[in-house]
Amino acid sequence: MAVKYNDTESKEKADPAFRYATTDLDFLPLPGEVWRGEWAGKRMSAGWNSRVDKYIALGIDTRSAVKIAQAAKLDPFFQPLWKRCEATGCTAIERPGSKMKRCHGCQRIFYCDAACQKAHWKEHKSACKGGNHPLQILRSQTIYKTILKEVIKPAEERLLHDSATDSEAAKSDGAEN
Ligand SMILES: [Zn+2]
Ligand SMILES: [Zn+2]
Repeated sequence: MAVKYNDTESKEKADPAFRYATTDLDFLPLPGEVWRGEWAGKRMSAGWNSRVDKYIALGIDTRSAVKIAQAAKLDPFFQPLWKRCEATGCTAIERPGSKMKRCHGCQRIFYCDAACQKAHWKEHKSACKGGNHPLQILRSQTIYKTILKEVIKPAEERLLHDSATDSEAAKSDGAEN
């Protein structure tokens, strides 16, 4: 059975372009989870991004196409297509023609330039050495990830539990269901 992802159970709403792209999708794109290698990743992210383009083409969102893409498009690793700088206080995001630099040490964090990296080094140092800095994901992926953990998985477990007790009850009643 396909799991339908929606954020109606959440206080925080995912980006409308991201929500649009999840329609009829039975998996949640998250780095390191459903990723099945580079070829599949490229195909799946291309499919995802074309849904975002379809959303942009609807013309119902007044933001620029770049802004929408920054909030919803994914790369083949299911990380944001347009990376953001992770230096504290910096709000820069990649856009066509500008590219963030990846930390050489751990390859897991992105910065505008050497200045942003230097400013963040004290904070990043131990995660860099440990190689465990969390992979960058979109705000909407964080929201859906939380829903998956707090709402969908417990609900699935309840369903499994209920159908197990139902069939137990059916057996003792001698009823057919
Ligand atoms: Zn920066
Ligand atoms: Zn690093």
